[in-house]
Amino acid sequence: MSDLPQAYLSQMRHLLGDEYQAFKEVYDRPFKNGLRINTLKTTQEEFQRINPFDLEPIPWTNSGFRFSSDPDREKPGRHPYHAAGLYYLQEPTAMLVAEVLDPKPGERVLDLAAAPGGKATHIAALMKNKGLLVANDIDPKRVWDLAENLERCGVRNAVITNERPQKLADFFGPFFDKILVDAPCSGEALFRKNPSSRDQWHPNLAKGCSRRQVRILESTSQMLKPNGRLVYTTCTFTPEENEGTIARFLKKHL
Ligand code: SAM
Repeated sequence: MSDLPQAYLSQMRHLLGDEYQAFKEVYDRPFKNGLRINTLKTTQEEFQRINPFDLEPIPWTNSGFRFSSDPDREKPGRHPYHAAGLYYLQEPTAMLVAEVLDPKPGERVLDLAAAPGGKATHIAALMKNKGLLVANDIDPKRVWDLAENLERCGVRNAVITNERPQKLADFFGPFFDKILVDAPCSGEALFRKNPSSRDQWHPNLAKGCSRRQVRILESTSQMLKPNGRLVYTTCTFTPEENEGTIARFLKKHL
């Protein structure tokens, strides 16, 4: 808690008001990770029969659970079931995103910033491997992790691309029923899970991130069919990168 950037704490105090104290206390509690059953490889019932972990259901997705990192128990990340793709380890909050996107089997879906594939594997599972999932990421190294995770999870309806959003837009035009923009951001919500991310944070980061997010949305929205659904998400708290980015985008388009 003490090594959280002071400017970040002041920003959150201002943002949360009465709820700030409760928010701050979360950093002193043990971190609980999430596990999402991969329904492309197993079912809820089948997995519950063989499950060696202590799992607690997550209310906003049928396939998601929390688990504590108990040193005396087997670690889900090291278990052969993980290598076999029976589940994906994912932040519980991140499991909401594909549910909101609500991709259907047979649809054309774009995951614009997909690496390493947490949400793309969830999207493919909801699509039951039917239709087309274009999983893109601009980072040439991270697309290899994406490829590995899609393969491990048995995804067969995905094409991986490593392109700039505008280049994809020029190629595809208004082609997709659903698009996810899980945008690059200042990453404040990662401070708890990954304390080293605190060192990369700076109070002015949000402004530059927001400008980049609007540019990404500008290009990406050109690929949405009329009446399609575009979901925009970040893993940060700053209003500038969330409500602010969306407001700037909508100002041009409504
Ligand atoms: N959706 C991923 C998941 O659930 O595993 C996490 C995505 S992470 C929050 C943001 C990603 O955006 C990074 O992998 C980064 O390489 C990618 N990125 C950054 N700028 C981009 C751009 N202009 N176009 C596409 N992807 C971009």
